[in-house]
Amino acid sequence: MSRLLSRILATFLAMVKRLFRQQTPITLPHPEEPANNSQTVSNTALPSVLQGWFDGWQVPVEHRAFWVEAIDVRVYDTWPAEMLAGGLGGNTPAASWEADGKRHLAILAAWLNPGVIAHEQAHNSYALLTEAAKAAFSSEYNRLKSTDPYIQLLYSINTYGLSSDVEGHAEVYRYLGEKMPEILKRYYPKLF
Ligand SMILES: [Zn+2]
Repeated sequence: MSRLLSRILATFLAMVKRLFRQQTPITLPHPEEPANNSQTVSNTALPSVLQGWFDGWQVPVEHRAFWVEAIDVRVYDTWPAEMLAGGLGGNTPAASWEADGKRHLAILAAWLNPGVIAHEQAHNSYALLTEAAKAAFSSEYNRLKSTDPYIQLLYSINTYGLSSDVEGHAEVYRYLGEKMPEILKRYYPKLF
């Protein structure tokens, strides 16, 4: 093939690729919901926010009772002094941890929304994985980080998930939900 012809062909292919991208733009399925400072413990209802997460993220119906019963969720207007003393940063919207054989989730009322709940429940799901499964997740996820278009889109908007594989695990669930790569869904027990 002549050089001219191959250059024309390359230009044509680049045009087609560009057109294809323009026609099928991908967007984050679950974009960030900003803090709502008018929300307080007394004017918000945890069950309806949990329902918003169940519906929006299509949490399997058979696992919903687990998420209601197994996780102790507390909502606060401001962080209690003992939690700040325990090392929680004052600007942290929410946190999850294990104590007394139970998972706990604490969240500030301003941030009580389905997306923040989704992020924290991904941490609680991650806690159900064996160490071997956690390692397997890391290797699959790190391979997909630079190739999956949705994960790439996420990290072009918000890089928080790049801080660790555990945060990446939670952010991928929060922002992509169903649209995360199929192969990763096995690392989200009771969420798919
Ligand atoms: Zn997190």
